[in-house]
Amino acid sequence: MSDKNKQTEKISEIVLPKDYKPSKDETYMSPKQRAFFYHLLDSWQQQLRGDASKTVSTMTEEKALFADPSDRATLETDRNFELRTRDRERKLISKILRTMEIVEANEYGYCEECGVEIGLGRLEARPVTDQCISCKTKEERSEKTSSGSIDDSYE
Ligand SMILES: [Zn+2]
Repeated sequence: MSDKNKQTEKISEIVLPKDYKPSKDETYMSPKQRAFFYHLLDSWQQQLRGDASKTVSTMTEEKALFADPSDRATLETDRNFELRTRDRERKLISKILRTMEIVEANEYGYCEECGVEIGLGRLEARPVTDQCISCKTKEERSEKTSSGSIDDSYE
């Protein structure tokens, strides 16, 4: 009897209407909402993976073509920039994948520091965030004085 009520639904298998948007009228982090964020994260990491391979190939080709001694400094800067971008992307992709696991485990959408609902608006803007805005602001303030988080702009 109780087995019937058990949620066996797999988040990744829930098909949402094409124009579905999480709404405040729904239960926070209902299966539908979780499915929405799951798919959002999934298409984001797929897009990043596609971009990552594209960046590497076009950049190497183009730079080789236009290489000129006077451009060497620019080239170095570009290469450093590219490496940093790729490193950032790699970290972001792994963070997205971790977040997708959190969605599946039904632990998504709550601040990991204080446990409050992070909120739909904030999650839609920053799907990988795991902190509410006030905890994040506090953390940022202390980070500014030390180093600086690499994926600040995504959280
Ligand atoms: Zn918090």
